[in-house]
This record gives sequence, structure tokens and C-alpha cells, in this order.
Amino acid sequence: MSQATRTSMDPVSLNDFRTQWGCAREAVLGAVERVGASGWLVLGAEVAAFEKELAAYWGMAHAVGCASGLDAIEIALRCAGLEPGDRVLTSPLSAFATTLAVERAGGVPLFVDVAPSGLLDLDLAEAALDSHRDVRFLLPVHLYGHAIDARRMARLRERFDLVIVEDCAQAIGASSYGVPVGATGGLAATSFYPTKNLGCMGDGGALLTGSAEHAALARSLRDYGQTCKYQHQHLGLNSRLDELQAAILRDAFLPELARRTARRVQIAARYREAIENPLLELPPAPEGSRSVWHLFPVLVSEERAAFRAHLDRAAVATGIHYPLLIPDQEALAPYAGNHLLGSIPRARAFASREVSLPIHPFLDDGAVERVVDACNSWRP
Ligand SMILES: *Cc1c(COP(=O)(O)O)cnc(C)c1O
Repeated sequence: MSQATRTSMDPVSLNDFRTQWGCAREAVLGAVERVGASGWLVLGAEVAAFEKELAAYWGMAHAVGCASGLDAIEIALRCAGLEPGDRVLTSPLSAFATTLAVERAGGVPLFVDVAPSGLLDLDLAEAALDSHRDVRFLLPVHLYGHAIDARRMARLRERFDLVIVEDCAQAIGASSYGVPVGATGGLAATSFYPTKNLGCMGDGGALLTGSAEHAALARSLRDYGQTCKYQHQHLGLNSRLDELQAAILRDAFLPELARRTARRVQIAARYREAIENPLLELPPAPEGSRSVWHLFPVLVSEERAAFRAHLDRAAVATGIHYPLLIPDQEALAPYAGNHLLGSIPRARAFASREVSLPIHPFLDDGAVERVVDACNSWRP
């Protein structure tokens, strides 16, 4: 549907892949044509060219394309030297993939509570690391498009000689006190799942690093662990970014990322200025964060389901990030709660009270005002 044929009651959706297609179509078809004509479909010039441009955009020396964000985190942890049984301190409030990557790399996840922002509480992380000196790995998540405090992370890294791998799946382009996400730890993973700020047309991901050695190891690990054809030095994965996805990302989506991020930031600013309802709390961004607003979370004081139904009646879609905390997932039941370092009341409050409002870059001003009005007219 084109902009011109929209009516004021068209649903305000969480994502708008059709409008995106209208904008991207020509560039995508050109990319497909080029890859098809090249006769080279896996790990060729397109992946290399995209990796170079992504690294430049990000401000880190090397990018390594992978098949998903999940794989990129696993590969980053293995590059960081994670050995089976090593413990990894991470956030209970994230996509399950964060912890799944730890498990797949052979690590053991540990959780502390989140801060009022919803991101890992670095005070609690420091206390936990102080009393568990054998924990050497930290896996923070730059949730909602916020950047966790890079200065505090750098201090933790020094004090505990930590290895930090950063989950940047929701935070491409975000920075903390001017430091890009991922740069503090030196190993970052991101995702090109279609809903992400830089989505492709299917699955994809990348690892970013400042280290040439880590980049070389990651290139080997994503390709069965081979160092050259048919010589396998490591037990790797099949986790390659397709030439097609790389070409599409480079031609159609990466060139738009800065502008689309700016639109997200603009919508977030409008929500923060105009949503005024004592029953809705807007969690703060971490100090120093230049956020890219992958999601826009609000906390409802009570009756989340009724609030979502109210927005649904106003044709405003909503999401929940996330309704079931990672340590509570059935797949982690064997830990029997031993993976929690202390109670996690703030994470539990997000799980029961959080609602995500639409904030994709194709929302027009009318749609943004409808979201504001629907929020402000909410009464239980
Ligand atoms: C999406 C996401 C992932 C996983 O990325 P995939 O490409 O879907 O594997 C990991 N962590 C976070 C925080 C995410 O949002």
C-alpha cells in the first residue's frame, strides 16, 4: 500500500516490510541480478565488500558475516577464549538467543538483575564479580537500542581482567559516551533478522572486532573451522552470510540505516515528550547512551492486558520484550535456579509490566500521534 492510499485508521504496526519493499525494490532486484550474473553464491566478493562497509559504518576494524545473530554471539565467545564450563555473567532480560549462544559455546550462564533501564545492572554485576572471582566472561546486551555504560564496563574489565563480548543485535549504531557498542569489549555480535534496525531479507548476522586474529578465527569458525579448503583446524559451524543477503544489505539497507535510525530517534523523542499518563512509566536510557531505539518500552502500572487491548482497539499494535525471563525458561530448568546470583525483581517487573510501542522508521507523523493519543487516553 502506498503512503497516499493510507487512511487514518490503517493499523499502526510494529514493522512495515511492505513499505520497506516499496523503497528497496529496485536496489534489491539489482543486487539479486548482480549476484546471479556473477555465478558466485557463497563467501565471495559481495560478503567481503559488505563486511568492509559494515566495519566502516560501525567504527570497528573488522566485520565477519555469519548466518545469524545467535551464531555471531557463539563465535564471538569462542574467539574470546571461552572453554567448556566457563561461566558467563549476562542479562536475564533479553532474547533467549543471548543465553543460548553461551550454552552452545559450552559456557554456563549466570544472571544478575537489570537496572531501571532494563539493561544489566553494572553495580550488581560488579558485586557479583567481586564475590565470584573465577567468573571471567561478561556478556552485556544493549537492549532496546540503548548502549550500556561503556565507562563503567571499561572499569569492570580492568578491575576483574574480564573478557567482554557484547550483544549488539538491537543496537547497531548506538554509542556510550561516544564509544560505539562493542568497542569496549572488542568483540561484538549483531543480527540482520528482518525486524532489527539493519535487517536483511531472511536471516543473517555479523561479528565485529578490532582484532585481526579474532577476525581470522571467526572467519574459520563460520566455515566449518577450516583455515584453507579441506583443512580443519577447529570444530566450526556452518554459519556463512549468503552472497545474496550481503549484496542486498550493502545496496538496499546499509545506505539507508543512518536516515532510518534518525527517524527512530525522532519518534522516540516525540513519545518521550508527549506521552503523559501517570499509569505509564518510560524507563530511562543508561547514562551516556546515544540510543538507536530498536524498541520503545513503556511500563504499565497495572493491567497490561487491558492496556494492550485498549491500544488494539485504537488499531495500534504492541509487543512484549520479554514476557518470560531467560532464567525461567524451561530449557534452563536443569540449573534449578543456581544460575541466579541474587534475586531479579526489576527484570521480573519488566516481564510482567513492559509493553513495546511501534517505533519503526516508516511510521508517519499521523501514526505517531495516534500512538500518543492512545497511550494518553488509557484508563483502567
Ligand atoms: C535478535 C536477537 C538475537 C538473535 O539474533 P538472530 O539473528 O535472530 O539469531 C540475539 N540477541 C538479541 C538481543 C536479539 O534481539
